[in-house]
Formats: sequence, C-alpha cells, structure tokens
Amino acid sequence: MTAGKFSEIRRRCFKAAEAKAAPEQTPEDRLRALLSERRTLRLVRGDEKVEATYWSADSGYNRDSYLNVCWLLRDLQADRVFPMNHGLLDVLCGLQSWLTRIGVHAPLRIHSGYRTANTNKRTEGAALDSRHIVGRAADISVVGISNLKLAQMASLLGRGGTGLYPGRNFVHVDTGDERIWIGRPRKKPA
Ligand SMILES: [Zn+2]
Repeated sequence: MTAGKFSEIRRRCFKAAEAKAAPEQTPEDRLRALLSERRTLRLVRGDEKVEATYWSADSGYNRDSYLNVCWLLRDLQADRVFPMNHGLLDVLCGLQSWLTRIGVHAPLRIHSGYRTANTNKRTEGAALDSRHIVGRAADISVVGISNLKLAQMASLLGRGGTGLYPGRNFVHVDTGDERIWIGRPRKKPA
C-alpha cells in the first residue's frame, strides 16, 4: 500500500469517527460500531500490564481475562479487587478501538479504577468520582492524544459521565444509568 493510499484510508477513518456527531446516533450506536466480536483491552498501570480478551461473540465473558482486567483496576491503597462493571469495560474497549482507527496504538494508562469508600474519601476531588466506589469508573490517559480529545471521544461513547480536570493528567470516564452517589459519599449504614 502506498503512503498516499494509507493516509487516505486514515483520513476516511477519521471522517467516519467524526461522523459520530450525527444527531440520530446514540452513544450505544457509536459503541456498537466500534466493538468487534472479540473485546480486548490493553491496559498499563505503573509497571503492570494486561492484555485481555474479556469477551468474545463465541464464548461470552472469559472469567480469567475479566479478572485480570479487574485486578489491574483494583484499589491499590486498600489492596481490594472489585467486579468491574461490564459496560465500563466496553466503553474503554470502544475508546481503544477508536484510538486505533485514528492511529493511536498506545495502551490505556490507568490512574485509578475501583476505590473503596475509604480510599475515595481520601482522594482529592473524589466527590465527583463516586462511581469509582461501585466499579463503574476509571481515570485514564493515553500517550499520543491530548486529554481534551480523549474526553471528547469518551463523552460520545459513555452513558455516564466524562470528567476533565484542569491541571490533572487524566480523564475520568464512568458509566451506568443511575447516579448512585451525589456529592460526598454518605456514611455506610452500621
Ligand atoms: Zn475518576
């Protein structure tokens, strides 16, 4: 393939990605178009890396791969693993697929995933990040793309929220139909 042809294809992919703004398209439509029959996540967090096909059309969820993803997204401070929301993994996977289509191949860098209520309380700006507590949120960045662009893309794929914090080096992505926590996390019942 010539370089010109390749850049033409890339340009078209980019155009296709930009067509996202069509008003009749829901985040689900966009996400479905990006997810293939094998959903693979490539994640990095510090020295740890995971590449895991957590779902395939043939056999559904792969328990070991899913747990590997959950392990990487664990609460490091509390040393706790949580069953992460499937929809969140799909949003991350769709985002990764979209990034690949526009020529960004770096893995998703995880800054935070699941948080216990205690860890969340100690986290700066955590009131808005409460979905971490229920395994429905991740703070991410990707080498080769600005956080602003990443947040724009995430906001077009997720059903929950996307947060961009000035001066912070990550984008908050969450999912879920219900806002479970509003404001500061409430005290757990005794
Ligand atoms: Zn967050």
